[in-house]
Amino acid sequence: MSVSTESQAGSLSRRRFFRWASSLAAALGAAPLVSSAKTLSSSMASPSASFDGEDYYAKLGVPTIVNAAGTYTTLTAACMPPEVLAAVQKAALHPVRLHDLQQKAGEYIARRLKCEGAVVTSGASGAISLATAACLQYANNLNIVDMPQAIDGMKNQVIVQQAHRYEYDRAMYLCGARVTEVVTLDDYKRACAAGNAAMTNFFNAAEDEDGIAGSAQIGREEWLRVAHEYKIPCHLDAAADMPPISNLWKYTGMGFDLVAFSGGKGMRGPQNAGLLLGRKILTDLAHANNNPGDGIGRGMKVAKEQIVGMVAAVDWVLTHTEESMQGDYQKRVDLIASAVKGIPSVRTETVVPRIANHVPHLLVRFDPAVTGVTTGQIVDALRKATPSIELNPNTGQKPNQGIPADANTLVVGVWMLQPGEDAIVGQRIRAALTKKS
Ligand SMILES: *Cc1c(COP(=O)(O)O)cnc(C)c1O
Repeated sequence: MSVSTESQAGSLSRRRFFRWASSLAAALGAAPLVSSAKTLSSSMASPSASFDGEDYYAKLGVPTIVNAAGTYTTLTAACMPPEVLAAVQKAALHPVRLHDLQQKAGEYIARRLKCEGAVVTSGASGAISLATAACLQYANNLNIVDMPQAIDGMKNQVIVQQAHRYEYDRAMYLCGARVTEVVTLDDYKRACAAGNAAMTNFFNAAEDEDGIAGSAQIGREEWLRVAHEYKIPCHLDAAADMPPISNLWKYTGMGFDLVAFSGGKGMRGPQNAGLLLGRKILTDLAHANNNPGDGIGRGMKVAKEQIVGMVAAVDWVLTHTEESMQGDYQKRVDLIASAVKGIPSVRTETVVPRIANHVPHLLVRFDPAVTGVTTGQIVDALRKATPSIELNPNTGQKPNQGIPADANTLVVGVWMLQPGEDAIVGQRIRAALTKKS
């Protein structure tokens, strides 16, 4: 690019910025913003700086990917929809009193999601920690600053079914809590009667929606009934379990005292945000333990951008119906399936895992003896292409998490694809299966 076109492009985007800034100022009734923006542009901006923002992925040499995997944290999970992104951008322009924002955001979300109280957290894992801190305090009447060091010997147990133990147990341990593991209903009743439990944790995806409890022996209803006989609050981890949209109020409605959702998964809020929903007496304690106080949550800071982003994500989710959301994902599945149609030995099917990641996924089954390529070679080819495509990690694996894959099956997660990427994924899979890549 020559110098003159570069500066032309620069002044063009500056003009665009002023148009945007003046319309924003008009909307906010804040005329001074325009003059301060002018000062900023003349005194601080370098001649070629563009207000559209620098592409730091390009500058840092970090390749962007097409996410045909799903809401995986290591793949940075969801991208925010334009409405949410615009709300975040607007919020970033003005400081506010953080406490006011946390309170008002919590009240608004609680109203929209039909529960008593809500906290915007740093993610579902952060929500589990704040839930634990709240329940420990509720059970022990502790000061915030006494956790975790003074909790030993107090009511510090969280009761969990053996089949519900998972990597997020650490989110509870860091508050000083310890886990009492139970298998049978009798174990559970004994653990509740022991009198040293502050909370129970239920891993939602460990139980099927039909109430079949998998390898766990105690279902949701019975779990709640027994704990509540002993007045022990129950936390439910439903991090990845939206859609269905109604899950956002179903579990609090059932009687779970606290429920955690991830903000950066199906809700498509900021990746470092989540929700803790539930009884106000407990969500108030969670707020009290949250940043910027001196509690457990101090290191789980949620900035104004994430708080507003999460509120906007709730609004975004609620503009959808179950049918519109799933129908859009199904269209992407159908488009990719049609792209691989007619390739010898290839068969496609749609699967919707029953609980976590409850959205249409495409399975592409093939016979490597016919196609002449293996699953591993296809995964590599897609990864090395530009743009680099990541398939769902259940690709080539045994059946897992409700996805009946096998060694010769590609699993395509479509719900995190950006507009137009379904067509790219379809073409690339076709090329890989026919060795044209
Ligand atoms: C993803 C997930 C979490 C963590 O969610 P973050 O928002 O990334 O903190 C916790 N529990 C379960 C079951 C999850 O799937």
